Amino acid sequence: MNIVSAGDIEKYAYCPLSWWLSKKHKSVYDEGIKKHKETGKELQEIKRKEEKLKLYEKYVLFISISATIVALFGLSFLYGKMEETWNVFFVVLAFLWLYNSLFFLYKAGKSSILRARYEKVILLSSVGAIMIASFSVIFSLPPNPDIGRFAEILALLWVISANLLFYRTLNISEEIIEKKIKYAPINGKIEYIGNSREGKEMESKKYGLRGKPDYIIKVGDEYIPVEQKSMEANHPRFSHVMQVTAYCMIIEDIYGKPPPYGIIKYSNRQFKIPYEERWKNIVMKIRKNMLRDMEKGIAHRNHNNARKCATCARREHCPERLA
Ligand code: SF4
Repeated sequence: MNIVSAGDIEKYAYCPLSWWLSKKHKSVYDEGIKKHKETGKELQEIKRKEEKLKLYEKYVLFISISATIVALFGLSFLYGKMEETWNVFFVVLAFLWLYNSLFFLYKAGKSSILRARYEKVILLSSVGAIMIASFSVIFSLPPNPDIGRFAEILALLWVISANLLFYRTLNISEEIIEKKIKYAPINGKIEYIGNSREGKEMESKKYGLRGKPDYIIKVGDEYIPVEQKSMEANHPRFSHVMQVTAYCMIIEDIYGKPPPYGIIKYSNRQFKIPYEERWKNIVMKIRKNMLRDMEKGIAHRNHNNARKCATCARREHCPERLA
């Protein structure tokens, strides 16, 4: 099956001759290319910071838990043994907590969907069990004020580091929110950046289409393609609707789930384009006509719209232009 690019679908939908001329005169969209590169850079920066944030959050959690354990350890040496009954109580509680983790682990093992959902519960539950168990063990040791004081100072330093790191995560979060709001909903994840080193071309064998959307955001379990245009527009252009629909088709094939819509972002506003059967049919028709013209080795204007020619990027080289 011949694979056609979504970018070519866009050009052909605008005017078949524009698509044909674009093969000979490639540099007409310099401004657009520059803008796409800038977007790619900014998105990569956001992605990098989000990864850093996740790592910092893990460190904060780890340091805080360690500090709490060390602090308890110190307290036990300062104040000595607790009563036997309390010791038994904490041991039983730790076992119950551990049983709770095992129960969720068993449930998660039954289904891969549940595994992801229970992951955090298992982690928190296990940490809880470990803490309670440590609590009961360290409080059964004889008092030693020197070790106790040393542990308390250590825990204090640990807490200070956790707070500094937490402060840094807050700053990064703010930076991310400010930049990300331009591109994606805050609960959305930037899944793919077309204009980046990792942004490989995506291909659908099922539809015979390929392409690199500017970026893809993941909201819940939906993958939404976003196409950015440097121009202003008060309504979505037909050729852009075709391009974003082609990306939706590629995503449907690759991720095995159709996106509910694609997004076209103009410099003044953005539009959600529902992913519909009627648009898919037109994309497939454009693809068929394009392959036919490729075989013929020529394409012609298919409209009488002089305004289209007046704003066409290839009018300078066009033998059939109307304006
Ligand atoms: S100038 Fe008009 S006819 Fe020529 S490629 Fe552009 S839109 Fe098509």
